[in-house]
Amino acid sequence: MTAAVLTLNAGSSSLKVSLYPAEGETPLATALADRIGPEGRLILKDASGQALALGADPAAGVTQEQGAVQGLAASHAAAMEAIMAALLRRWPDLQLQAIGHRVVHGGAKRRGPARVDGDLLAELEALSPFAPLHQPHNLAGIRAALAAFPGVPQVACFDTAFHRDQPFINQTFALPRRFFAEGLRRYGFHGLSYEWVAGLLAEEVPAVAAGRVVVAHLGNGASLCALQGGRSIASTMGFSPLDGLAMGTRCGQIDPGVLLYLLQQKGLSAEAVSDLLYRESGLLGLSGLSNDMRQLEAAGSAEAAEAIAYFVARCQREIAAMAAALGGLDALVFCGGIGENAWRVRALICEGLGWMGVALDPERNAAGERVISCRGATRIVLVIPTNEEQVIARAARSLRDRSVDPAVAAEA
Ligand code: ADP
Repeated sequence: MTAAVLTLNAGSSSLKVSLYPAEGETPLATALADRIGPEGRLILKDASGQALALGADPAAGVTQEQGAVQGLAASHAAAMEAIMAALLRRWPDLQLQAIGHRVVHGGAKRRGPARVDGDLLAELEALSPFAPLHQPHNLAGIRAALAAFPGVPQVACFDTAFHRDQPFINQTFALPRRFFAEGLRRYGFHGLSYEWVAGLLAEEVPAVAAGRVVVAHLGNGASLCALQGGRSIASTMGFSPLDGLAMGTRCGQIDPGVLLYLLQQKGLSAEAVSDLLYRESGLLGLSGLSNDMRQLEAAGSAEAAEAIAYFVARCQREIAAMAAALGGLDALVFCGGIGENAWRVRALICEGLGWMGVALDPERNAAGERVISCRGATRIVLVIPTNEEQVIARAARSLRDRSVDPAVAAEA
């Protein structure tokens, strides 16, 4: 029998699935479906990076190119079905012990992962208006898994949970207090990533983990977290994943007066403003070219350079703001697709932080070593590949033996 734990990360147009052994940290297989819809692509790999057969059938319009299959990811459910069929072909004796889900919003209460039952589903459903672009997809993923695997324990892991014990002043807006009670507060996101980084720091460099650390999760979505002794005390994302740093297509921090102008003077609809802020801004909006850092670095146009310069400048400002919240800085950690790979961007960000005692070793930085600061520098700078899936798998294992609410089957 191949006992295993499945992790699911369902985004608006993507689905990431990892299959972990019942005990063990290396995934048996990982799948990624992106651009879900008519153009959707699916790729499934085993632990060695070898693409696993997905049953491409040209007669059914399913084609395979360089391991990525087109025609099996028309919807989340279709992609899930194709992944599970392929996993069962590879491991016919597969037995799932638990399924862990990434859920963007856990609201004001959830401080850690939770077993999915009818009450939790209702609670998370009620939070959908707070994260309309993400939460419904996360919940659809849970519902699909409940229907496909009745009786398998399911665990929800929240991106907001890690930030719940931040001091009041870092969670509130300066609005009349009744709005805080209503849930209009800074939730912070990317919590699973920060939990991974905090755990790894505690294992590898406990003296650093005990201090004041700013973690920069720089991916298509980007945010910073201020860690004091491994706990989040402030973050740049706020009520929504729009605030803080400029991102691939999101604007980051913006004067709310701009929104009033767009709504009241320009007469834009709420949907149009939402599209503008979430999908048309950030690196894409400023460059007019792409949301992808690699493409911008390669482009060489003045607009692309300005988009990168804006991204870098906002990172510098917000890193300093996080350090102020911490009362100083002992370490800076980079993670996420840009943080882990874009060494030129890391160099640009750190160049502007010399006044804080940040000094990179150019060779270590270009080589992407774990420690990239100069020997003897007062602030240590690290690159730590994040691993949200591992955090979800651990949570699924730790909660799999809790009792199940029988109402779940009915809910599904
Ligand atoms: P998401 O938030 O969607 O998970 P990722 O963490 O995968 O995003 O980050 C995607 C970003 O990382 C993109 O802007 C991509 O261009 C950037 N990136 C990945 N690899 C590199 C690289 N080698 N050099 C520069 N940027 C990179």
